[in-house]
Amino acid sequence: MSEAAHRHRVVVIGSGFGGLFGTRALKRTDVDVTMIAKTTHHLFQPLLYQVATGILSEGEIAPATRMILRKQRNAEVLLGEVTDIDLENRTVTSRLLERVTVTPFDSLIVAAGADQSYFGNDQFAEFAPGMKTIDDALELRGRILGAFEQAELSHDHEERMRLLTFVVIGAGPTGVELAGQIAEMSDNTLKGAFRNIDPTEARVILLDAAPAVLPPMGEKLGTMAAKRLEKMGVEIQLNAMVVDVDADGLVVKEKDGTERRIEAQCKVWSAGVAASKLGKILADQSGAETDRAGRVRVLPDLTIPGNPNVFVVGDMMLVDGVPGMAQGAIQGATYAAKAIKAGLEGQSPAERKPFKYFDKGSMATVSRASAVAKVGKLEFGGFLAWLGWLALHLWYIVGYQNRVITLTSWAITFLTNKRGQMTITEQQVYARTALDALQTGAKPAIPPVHTSSPTKALPKAAPTADVQVEAPGAPSAAADKAEKAG
Ligand SMILES: Cc1cc2nc3c(=O)[nH]c(=O)nc-3n(C[C@H](O)[C@H](O)[C@H](O)COP(=O)(O)OP(=O)(O)OC[C@H]3O[C@@H](n4cnc5c(N)ncnc54)[C@H](O)[C@@H]3O)c2cc1C
Repeated sequence: MSEAAHRHRVVVIGSGFGGLFGTRALKRTDVDVTMIAKTTHHLFQPLLYQVATGILSEGEIAPATRMILRKQRNAEVLLGEVTDIDLENRTVTSRLLERVTVTPFDSLIVAAGADQSYFGNDQFAEFAPGMKTIDDALELRGRILGAFEQAELSHDHEERMRLLTFVVIGAGPTGVELAGQIAEMSDNTLKGAFRNIDPTEARVILLDAAPAVLPPMGEKLGTMAAKRLEKMGVEIQLNAMVVDVDADGLVVKEKDGTERRIEAQCKVWSAGVAASKLGKILADQSGAETDRAGRVRVLPDLTIPGNPNVFVVGDMMLVDGVPGMAQGAIQGATYAAKAIKAGLEGQSPAERKPFKYFDKGSMATVSRASAVAKVGKLEFGGFLAWLGWLALHLWYIVGYQNRVITLTSWAITFLTNKRGQMTITEQQVYARTALDALQTGAKPAIPPVHTSSPTKALPKAAPTADVQVEAPGAPSAAADKAEKAG
């Protein structure tokens, strides 16, 4: 097809904040937009921890992109993982199962985001998954609730303590939010729900190699968040670098070099990010620089050298002073869309004004009714910050229906301590063990009911001598306690 025979073709990679807002910003532009993403949804990552801890369902924070864009006539959505970008021939290659699709472009917006980084220790991922996707959040929900379920079946004190110890690695906003919610869930939601264990005895540890909680938000807010977490019973361990992780726990190296072990079945990694590998593909072809996290140093107009039609935005871009946050992606993608439109109206790339980031501030929730916020020079915490956090997140959730459902779910959780999304599947309880088994065709071993017999998931359980069968209708001391407490 000749150049004149088609409209200007914009390919957008990713359906996250950058991809979706970039596509929407092109709604009234005379272009054909093709969004290619490896998931069918637009994920609101800031609320993933609420899916992991049973407050929200995945549908509330991840509406189908196709449905969001169904009325945008100039946009189409393709499912597939982009495996290659050819800058010279202006094509994007994507793969869905065995099907390979090559999509030509005139302009390209790359918004493929970031993955978890284990700083070279990728083997940790099996035992300490991160939280970047819906799959991660659901797996985590399974691991958290599954640990309580397994503890209920155990009659070995040491093993129970290991099962009831939750370690969150990384004390940034995600780590703080997750630790706070695991503590609230065990102290409030699960109270009285078990007969052999007392969920309020669960230990939640938040640890970080850095000397502070929430380092990007400054000392004042970090201290405020730490105090609130400690009040909720979360143990905060700073200057503690994780040097090894296995199925039963982790090894931490202190500042003075000494190492210690924490026994914990459920570990979560929220310590680092690495930009999408597509950054390297772009850098190799254009000569752009990348930093240690794989982010691409873009030019002032967010393009890469020699390619004024290729924009890199969001968590993949490296621009001084722009944080890896939703606003950075939204503003970058909107800027790229405007630059494409201006180009069609005759503006040359040399005439583009440099991208300017407008810092709208940052927030993190710590617990119900408590958050910290930084807006310009203003730093505050507590209930007011929490209300601001609720309003802002509600505003950015895509879709009226999702906002209403989310608000209802929040009202239920925050007013009654109940959570509506506590379902976990068999596969999730056994986490990756089940997935491995599915791949090999074997079914994961499930311990007999009422016993603490060992399985892969319960390696330290006592042998058959410890098998106990409880008389039906004989509640334990924990159940008695919960009943008395109402
Ligand atoms: C748990 C968590 C909590 C967060 N909390 C906050 C917060 O409170 N406030 C805040 O401002 N920011 C927060 N962030 C950061 C924020 O979510 C990101 O900065 C933002 O999502 C970046 O947008 P993006 O478009 O660059 O990438 P993303 O939103 O991550 O989107 C990337 C997209 O690219 C797709 N993709 C990736 N690789 C490929 C490929 N090879 N082929 C096809 N598609 C691909 C993905 O499926 C996805 O659709 C949080 C992030 C996480 C993980």
